Amino acid sequence: MKVTTAKTAGFCFGVKRAIEMVEAELSSHGKDAGPIYTYGPIIHNEIVVSDLESRGVRVMAEDDDPAGYPPGTVILRSHGVSREVEDGIRNAGHQVVDATCPFVKKIHRIVGEYDDLGYRIVITGDRDHPEVQGIMGWIKSGRCDCILSYEDFEKLQIPRDEKACLVSQTTFNHEKFKELVEKINKNGYNIRAKNTICSATEERQTEARDLAGKVDAMIVIGGKSSSNSRKLFEICAAVCSDTYFIQSMSDLDISSLSSIEHVGITAGASTPNNIIEEVQKNVRNEF
Ligand code: SF4
Repeated sequence: MKVTTAKTAGFCFGVKRAIEMVEAELSSHGKDAGPIYTYGPIIHNEIVVSDLESRGVRVMAEDDDPAGYPPGTVILRSHGVSREVEDGIRNAGHQVVDATCPFVKKIHRIVGEYDDLGYRIVITGDRDHPEVQGIMGWIKSGRCDCILSYEDFEKLQIPRDEKACLVSQTTFNHEKFKELVEKINKNGYNIRAKNTICSATEERQTEARDLAGKVDAMIVIGGKSSSNSRKLFEICAAVCSDTYFIQSMSDLDISSLSSIEHVGITAGASTPNNIIEEVQKNVRNEF
């Protein structure tokens, strides 16, 4: 059997960096420095989170008051937090290790600067997503709106002469953003558009779609609560009817692949390499 693993399978740059920062903290953390926490699960992968827990990394629940936890070191996740959350953690006596992805940090800087210059901030993205919540929390004036379409933008009734700055959630669709900016400009608004989309997600999805179209069966590895993995599964299943969504090797009934000639493998942004390699090795060795 031929097995092809997508080049973009697994951790993106920002997630890889965040995990490396947790590992670095684990190896350098002094005995008297208190517990190590991640602010929420570091990634949407139960296996990784419970492995870290077994090595002493606790999860600080986002709804909890940081002051309710013994002082220690809190590692912020790749999708970042608001200034208020970060200050709240420090004020509760914890050290902060900021593992916010530099691409997200750049958006925090842009919205902060343009807000200071008196621009109204508009974000393309999902208002309820933690990344967007974090971005909104760096806009001191609070003058900020979230939109998903040009129709949403029109509903804001921004005067055409008002200065506005448009940024995007990192996972927003490139094409949609381009179209939106074109429409806004065509209709005479005074807007500074900053394309802050990260291409990692799109590249992973495009490669998965292409691969699923060439194989007889497709395996998508990802955490059950990971929305990007679920999306990857949907994309592959739409092209290849024999698509499996698994969290690790133990979820896969390998006998279901017995008559397959070519298997494709991809994985969501929160799937570690060792899990991908284990699946790849087992599928290859079995047939
Ligand atoms: S998807 Fe992009 S922006 Fe988000 S963490 Fe990964 S590299 Fe950073």
